[in-house]
Amino acid sequence: MLFETDGKVYNPLGGGSYVYQDSLIQYMHSQLRKKKVKISIGAQPNSSPHFGTLEVFCLAFALANMLCHYDKELQVSVLFEMVDTAPAIAQKIGDKNYQISLRESGEMNKYIDQYNEILEQLSSISNISYQVRGQREFNRHTSIPDIVKKVISHRDLLAPILEPKKHIIRIRSACPICGLTDKKGIENKFVDNKMICFCPKHGEFEVDIDTESYRLEYNTPLRNLIRGIVYSIDNQDDNLDYEWIRITGADYAGFYQEQLLYKTTDILGYSVSKLPMILYASLVTDWSGAKLSKSLYVNEGAYRYLPSYMINYDNLRKEKGSMGLAKVYSEVHSWLEESYKLFRNYSIYYFMEVLK
Ligand SMILES: [Zn+2]
Repeated sequence: MLFETDGKVYNPLGGGSYVYQDSLIQYMHSQLRKKKVKISIGAQPNSSPHFGTLEVFCLAFALANMLCHYDKELQVSVLFEMVDTAPAIAQKIGDKNYQISLRESGEMNKYIDQYNEILEQLSSISNISYQVRGQREFNRHTSIPDIVKKVISHRDLLAPILEPKKHIIRIRSACPICGLTDKKGIENKFVDNKMICFCPKHGEFEVDIDTESYRLEYNTPLRNLIRGIVYSIDNQDDNLDYEWIRITGADYAGFYQEQLLYKTTDILGYSVSKLPMILYASLVTDWSGAKLSKSLYVNEGAYRYLPSYMINYDNLRKEKGSMGLAKVYSEVHSWLEESYKLFRNYSIYYFMEVLK
């Protein structure tokens, strides 16, 4: 299939781009309460970072850089929340699905160097520092036990929203002996402050939510909710000198957050207006307007028609050297300089021009 274009780029205003067309940084700055800001990004280190992940990382460092220029007294850094609890190995035992996570299997060690390389390069281009933490560290936050207990006590209301198919609250914990995890948390029981889980090899084991919250794992919508509430508690805590902004991909904007984050936050009795700001990185789409999917590529050999540097970081650095990531950063930075450019998608063909 051949496409013809005139190569011209239009940025028609509408919705967010109309309201924030040249004042996004000013607006975001006006919503801050503290002089220190941490910009949170996340990813599951289960493969070489794909193009969408690169874009999210670039937007975080670019936003930090823009905010620091706007307010010289502001200290902004980036925090990579590594989702090391995501599945690495799936295992079916009987009729139940179990998983061993990226952390327990050591699978993430294959890719973590690439993530570090990206963070290092973006940090040096933008002059912004960064930190990395895993889910264990996140789950040690002092407010986690209270939030999780509220989630459990409201599970009849939350489960149909967070898991419309099976109405199960997807909290889980890995067997302390073999690492096997009941992926969907189907067999979990909640008794007092304990979660009782089941390992098909080692039987029942307990997790004390008050003292062992670091052992908890969640599926993506529940993690999104719990993280949002943790950040909002931090933002309102005057004993803490920093506050949070979150950056994620635009496929999570709109209906997803309205249902899975804002509605559920309200049900749990937390203030929706106190949730942290979330800025969305524009989607990079294929010819049909769908977002590039790394799992499609890995599983079915899709996107053979694309130059491989559009697929993941490993290929980008092989084919374009460090200039590849630098060009993506500079493009993403320009979306914040003229912020009407952030509220739209970009096709792979657009980025092939950027990376020429
Ligand atoms: Zn076990």
